[in-house]
Amino acid sequence: MQMVAFGVVLLVVGVVVAVLFGLTDITGRTHAIIPAGGIGLAVIGALVAALGATSKKSSPTAQFKCQACGASFGSQEALNSHSKDKHGK
Ligand SMILES: [Zn+2]
Repeated sequence: MQMVAFGVVLLVVGVVVAVLFGLTDITGRTHAIIPAGGIGLAVIGALVAALGATSKKSSPTAQFKCQACGASFGSQEALNSHSKDKHGK
């Protein structure tokens, strides 16, 4: 959640920088680096936001459920070791 917000902030700041400096110097002779940097920042922000959104969505928090007690685990291995430790199977 925080990662997505951070990415969105980067994206907005990057777009604002790119638009501001891109519009004030359309020829791009003296300040070509600044709008380019803003676009780069926006791209990084979009990537960070997308990464944060997908990792949050695909995090397998409750995919493997213990049949005996109902506890949830992120992997089959974790469920197996839990079953072994707690239920002796
Ligand atoms: Zn259990």
